[in-house]
Order: sequence, then structure tokens, then C-alpha cells
Amino acid sequence: RAKAEGRGVHRFFEPAMDVAIQARRGVELDLRVALAEQQFALAFQPFLDLASNRIAGFEALLRWHHPVRGVVSPAAFVPIAEETGMIVPLGEWVLRQACREAARWPQAFRVSVNLSPVQFRSADIDATVIAALREANLDPHRLELEITEGVLLQDNPSTLAILHRLKGIGVRIAMDDFGTGYSSLGYLRAFPFDKIKIDRAFVADLSVRTDALAIVRAVTTLADSLGMTTTAEGVETEEQLAQLRAAGCTEVQGYLVSRPVAAEAVAPMLQGA
Ligand code: C2E
Ligand code: MG
Ligand code: MG
Ligand code: MG
Repeated sequence: RAKAEGRGVHRFFEPAMDVAIQARRGVELDLRVALAEQQFALAFQPFLDLASNRIAGFEALLRWHHPVRGVVSPAAFVPIAEETGMIVPLGEWVLRQACREAARWPQAFRVSVNLSPVQFRSADIDATVIAALREANLDPHRLELEITEGVLLQDNPSTLAILHRLKGIGVRIAMDDFGTGYSSLGYLRAFPFDKIKIDRAFVADLSVRTDALAIVRAVTTLADSLGMTTTAEGVETEEQLAQLRAAGCTEVQGYLVSRPVAAEAVAPMLQGA
């Protein structure tokens, strides 16, 4: 194809790069089709409150049921959705779907939704959130938005205003993947988060490195004094659970409690809760 466009063009595109660009375009096109043909679904993973030993809520996790490739994990397509801007309509679908599902649960648990930095850059994200809540008739106190440092890193003055507006109507804001970036402490001061999610890298290290426990302790103490709660991510063993409990974590989430489950499996899980 490049040859048909002339020798000059050909020089700029290494064959490997051309293949990568083609593949990305392919995925972008696939994403559009997928949204139109409803190939996306939400999986829900509970988080457990350690004081009561009860489920406190569920995080909505996006799944792509690709007709040929099967279930595709978000790590494989969210970055491309972000680069192409497809995350905006896709993220809106996630918000609406998560609110709709939560409104149907037999008990008033919280639902957490992951937001991409791109949604803060280009979309009227607060209006989208409010519309999703209204449409589902969901109490704003039941919605929690998970953002990563990337959202605050953009240094977009409207981001804080948007977060404050959402918090003002009762929506909770959580900092996701805490500890993986560079300026985490500064970001904790920049915005009054309700919750800090301790990245699963620290949880995984609990049994191998003593400093991991020291870090978790420091984060729970800091969160406490800032009036925030903590959720440890990626808890897989009883040993980790015991350590996190002793370290004063508020909630845990991970395969030990439950893997993410399909929407239809949430209500049966609550019967036993
Ligand atoms: P995250 O928000 O930090 O979600 C936690 C990820 O860890 C999930 O992967 C979850 O399935 C996985 N996980 C949970 N418990 C365990 C455990 O015990 N062990 C291990 N090894 N993993 C565990 P998943 O569903 O593949 O999602 C990956 C990331 O994709 C999420 O990280 C989030 O950043 C992003 N993502 C997922 N859904 C959405 C969405 O709707 N919108 C946006 N923008 N991003 C999303
Ligand atoms: Mg998350
Ligand atoms: Mg996380
Ligand atoms: Mg993550």
C-alpha cells in the first residue's frame, strides 16, 4: 500500500510499524462495532468490609465478549480505546450500565466505576454521571468513581471542579492503584478522596518483603488521619488477609473473596451475604 503512495512515503513506514498501525486501526474499528452490537458486558467484583465481614459493594469491570477472540481483558483494549477516543462513548456505556445493574440489586450496595483520564479531558463527565444516576434512579451515595493519578496528572483546572461537583451531590471518589505512580502524596492533598485503593503490587509483596507491610501500615495510618478509608486490591491468600486486617485496612478485594462475576451472579451472591 505504501508503495502505491510513492517512494517518499514508503521510507517513513517501517514494515513492523505499519503492521502495528494496521492492527490498532483494526481494533479501533472492532471497538466501534462491538459497542454498536453490544459485545461489552460488565463483570462485578465484591469488596469486603473487614469490620463487619460483609460485602460493602462491587466494582464494575469491563469485559469484551469478542465473537472470534472470546473474552478480551480491558488491559488489551482500554489503552487503544483511550488513544482513539472510543473510551468516551464506551465509558458512558459503562456508567449507565453499572448504575442500571446496581439499581436492580436486592440490597443497596455501592457500585464502583473506573474512569479514564481521557473522559475528563474530552467529555462532559459530570453531566454524564448525573444523567446515568437519574436514568437508573440510583442514589448518588451508592456510586463510587475510581480514578488514577493520571486524572490529576493532566493538570486540567476543570478536573478538580468536576470532582468537587460530583462529591457535592454525594458521589464517592476513590484513588485507584495507589502507590504505583510518582507523586501520590501530593495528589492525596490535592483532592479529598473518600477511599484509597492500595495497589495489588504491595499486597503481593506482603509475604516476600517486610517493607511492603510497612508501606501498607503507613498508607492506612495516613488515610485514617486524612479521613479516608483504604481498600487493599488483589488479596489472594488468608495470610495476606490477616496482615491487612492487622494493618488496619478498611476493606479488601481479591480472588480470596471472589473473582469478578457476571452481572447475573451478583444477586445469588447477596443471598448468602
Ligand atoms: P483496576 O481498576 O485496578 O481493577 C483491578 C484488576 O485486578 C481487575 O482486572 C481485576 O479482575 C483484577 N483482580 C482482582 N482481584 C485480583 C486478585 O486477587 N489477583 C489478581 N492477580 N488480579 C485481581 P481487570 O478486570 O482485567 O481490569 C484491569 C484494569 O482495566 C482495571 O484495573 C482498570 O484500570 C481497567 N478497567 C476495567 N474496567 C474498566 C472500565 O470500565 N473503564 C476503564 N476506564 N478502565 C477499566
Ligand atoms: Mg479499579
Ligand atoms: Mg486498581
Ligand atoms: Mg489497575
